[in-house]
Formats: sequence, structure tokens, C-alpha cells
Amino acid sequence: QDLPFLHHPHPEPVAVDVRTAMLKNPGFGRVFTDHMVTIRWTEGRGWHDAQVRPREALTLDPANAVLHYAQEIFEGLKAYRTKDGGISLFRPEQNAFRFQASAERLAMPVLPVSTFLQAIEQLVKVDADWIPGGEGSLYLRPFMFANEAFLGVRPSSEYLFVVIASAVGAYFKGGKKAISVWLSEHYTRSAAGGTGAVKCGGNYAASLIAQAEASRNGCDQVVFLDSKDHRWVEELGGMNIFFVFEDGSLVTPPLSGTILPGITRASLISLARSEGREVREERYGIDQWRADAASGKLREAFACGTAAVISPIGEIKSTGGDFTIGDGSSGPVTEALKAKLVGIQRGEIADENIWVR
Ligand code: PMP
Repeated sequence: QDLPFLHHPHPEPVAVDVRTAMLKNPGFGRVFTDHMVTIRWTEGRGWHDAQVRPREALTLDPANAVLHYAQEIFEGLKAYRTKDGGISLFRPEQNAFRFQASAERLAMPVLPVSTFLQAIEQLVKVDADWIPGGEGSLYLRPFMFANEAFLGVRPSSEYLFVVIASAVGAYFKGGKKAISVWLSEHYTRSAAGGTGAVKCGGNYAASLIAQAEASRNGCDQVVFLDSKDHRWVEELGGMNIFFVFEDGSLVTPPLSGTILPGITRASLISLARSEGREVREERYGIDQWRADAASGKLREAFACGTAAVISPIGEIKSTGGDFTIGDGSSGPVTEALKAKLVGIQRGEIADENIWVR
């Protein structure tokens, strides 16, 4: 049964000229829209009190469980302005499913897919004027956290589900062509039985030190290796990874339970396969990566995710030495897959799989 959403329009939305100026060069994750969606969950009562309301600060009790035990999950997806002036969402039901998986792993209540989609659609509708044109998009951030003032260690008896939206431009500063990545040889992101396959804030908290190490070494992103052998490539701090070989085939690390099952990753696997390319979901070791880059067997590598879509990887740096893939810039397979995916997301290319809604 659909939850009724109460609408409280913002009494003083951002003025049109101010908004237009804000949308000129929004960057990533700093420009927020006028509204947010909130839905509460209470033990014994379930989901209730769904609202589309003015975006404002939340007040939290200092004993709120999320501040102590990090029972929190989130999602990230984009709404695009299509050429004909419409609005498109890319596979939002996949985010809804992943949000359910995250909730289960963190012992939180599971939000129905239809409620997740309704919340997103309602927010996009009320804040549609915030969707930038051109290369920009509206980044939607659904999240849920424990909302009970209690210091005992157990699942909370109350939760708040929230959706906020942020107008965004390019994820990497300067819309950079190829990114450089730092191999994290010491810190790992997740281990078997842990939370690596779901999207909880704690995963990111634990990855920040490695990302900071990457930045210190002049890199855009960090590459994590497996926690057991410190040898197999897993994923980046916020993106999955693909390798392109001289025979045109692709390799991406398998969903072993320790990496996030990216929606961009899954979409690219189907797009590449539908073009007749071989895509293998198999382990790829760091020594092999170095050797294949040197021999030229490896032609391209790219990172993929909602925020940056597809970013070619040019250079890999590590304490064991640096190496470059090809000439350090983007390659033809990366560019072709990117053009196809972006074209589908923006409604400019036939969407054979019916991914856009
Ligand atoms: N891995 C991690 C760790 C991420 O944070 C993300 C971004 N959600 C991804 C991969 C890519 O996932 P998606 O394609 O669904 O955005």
C-alpha cells in the first residue's frame, strides 16, 4: 500500500536569479535544492509520516545511536534533463534494491521499492528547476539512519529515511581526462563477512585515510586490494574498475561479497556484451596489472560509478613504483562505452534495455 506523502512547499525558495547563478558551475555535492523528503519508521508502527518539506537542518539527540554506532546506509543516483525538456532517472529501482540489501545487512527496516521510488520522484518533481542543463545533473542522495536516543548496542527502534538533492557538474575537478590512482597496500576496505558489498557510511569512514594517502601522493582516487593476500584488485574508494585488453575483451573483479555491486558496473557489463565483447568477472592481481601494462597487453583501464560515470585511469602510483597504461590518456573502448552509457542516460540513444524511467 502506498504511503500518503504530505506536501509542505518551501515558503521562501531560492530566488530564480540566485538559483541560476548557483547552477552555472555547481561542482559536486555543495549546491542543494529547496526541499527534502523524510519518512519515519518506528517499531510496532512501521513506515509513517512521509513528507516532502523544506530542506532544513535535522536536530539529533546527543545520545542518538547513529552518532555512536554508525547504523546508517545511503544511495546515490542521478536525474537528468533530457534534450526534449523531460526528466530521466537511470535504473532507480536498482538503487532501491541495493538500499534494501544495505538495510538488511545493517539490521535496519527494509523500505518498500515503491516507497523509495515515490520519494525520489516526488523530490525530483518539486525541485525540477534545480536540474542543471548541459553536462550537469541532479544527484539524489537517499539515506537512512538510526534515530533513537539510546546508548545500548542493538538495532535502533526508530529510523529516519531522508532524500536530499544536489545539483552537480563534473565529479573530478576540471572534468579531467584520465585520472591517477594510488594503490593502497596497507589499508583494506572490507573483508569476507563484513559490509563491503553494501552502501553504509562506515565503509567510507574507514576508507578516508587511504583516500587521504592517495591525495598526498597526488592521486585522484585510491585502489583497494583484497584484505587477505593484499594482491587482488577490488575497487576504488567510490567506483568499480574495468580492464580492457588487446583482444578487445574486458575484465572486472567479481562480486565476491567485499566490493560494492555498482549499477554502472552491471550496466557496462551488459552494454559491452551486447556489442559482442567478452567480459570476464574474474580476479586480477596487481603484479599482473603491472606486467600487462608494461607489455602492452593491457590497453585501457577505467573506473565507473554514478558520480563520475566513466573515468579513464592513466597512471597508477604505489610505494612499489609507478606505471602508466598506454600513453596515460583515455582509450577507444573506454570512450565508446562512455558515449553509449551517457547517451542512454540522457535519452539521446535508443534505450533497448528500458533502463531509463
Ligand atoms: N564502489 C563504491 C565503493 C561506491 O561508493 C560506488 C558508488 N556508489 C560504486 C562502486 C559504483 O556504484 P554505482 O555504479 O552504483 O554508482
